[in-house]
Amino acid sequence: MLTMRDVLRARRLIRDHLPPTPSWSYPLLDEAAGRHLVVKHENAQPTGAFKVRGALNLLAGLDEPVVTYSTGNHARAIAYAARAFGRHATVVMPEHAAELKVRAVEALGAAVVRHGANMGDAEAHAQTLPGRLVSPGDEPALIAGVATAYLELFERHPGLDTVVVPVGSGTGAAAAGLVAAAVAPGCRVIGVQSAAAPAAHDSWRAGHCVRRENRTRVDGLATGRGFEGPQALLRAHLADFVLVGDDEIDAARRLLARRAGTQAEGAGAAALAAVLARPDLMGRAVGVVVTGANATELELAR
Ligand SMILES: *Cc1c(COP(=O)(O)O)cnc(C)c1O
Repeated sequence: MLTMRDVLRARRLIRDHLPPTPSWSYPLLDEAAGRHLVVKHENAQPTGAFKVRGALNLLAGLDEPVVTYSTGNHARAIAYAARAFGRHATVVMPEHAAELKVRAVEALGAAVVRHGANMGDAEAHAQTLPGRLVSPGDEPALIAGVATAYLELFERHPGLDTVVVPVGSGTGAAAAGLVAAAVAPGCRVIGVQSAAAPAAHDSWRAGHCVRRENRTRVDGLATGRGFEGPQALLRAHLADFVLVGDDEIDAARRLLARRAGTQAEGAGAAALAAVLARPDLMGRAVGVVVTGANATELELAR
């Protein structure tokens, strides 16, 4: 059972590696959303996404080689943390993974194995390789590390009444819920996923993990199944869960670029897309977590 004690321990550890990320507001974004937004810039991490927090926390507690599977940001986070602690990391990435994302992982010193048509194939192959297998979803240490972002957010902005978190495997939203319950109990946490890959959303609504077709073009939100560890926390702490379209997510990326001068990949813009799509669900002071910057060449062109 994960507790705030684990989160505070993660913060002490991560502090030696990463400064807190900025969180502030943009009047032109507030105008578009019709409410006060606080943007938390996890797109300013050295790996371009929040996952590096969890990876550092997990790898700090391991002293063996690790093997994992990912289309991008989890891979890069594990590679970054492996380098920081002098461990060997092997990452299985699906064959269609974007070239720049593969090179970003290799540039950090990890070994990349390209295998399979999708994440399921990559996972199956990773299970055959030597080393401690790291699941992108079912690792409490990842959630504890990621939770440090929400500790920073609530400490700096205690007046938030809603925080919106994009969901793939659900570690980020689970972490947000855990921290909100402890330090900002009046703040509701709302999850968002793409309607083209609703496995986490549907798992939360069903009350047990389900599989769903995964047709989104938004990498960080692309998952075909619910993950039990994060889902248990989501069931306990999530106030609501919203689905948005991939086109709405692209519109939110443009808005972040124009009105906040910041680059988000699709998953990183999903929280803003949810605020714009469902104003009825949002409060007056809303935390919007821009979880990542790592758009592909194709996404940037679009
Ligand atoms: C992984 C990821 C998400 C989803 O986070 P989970 O913890 O898997 O739910 C959201 N945004 C970005 C940029 C990501 O890399």
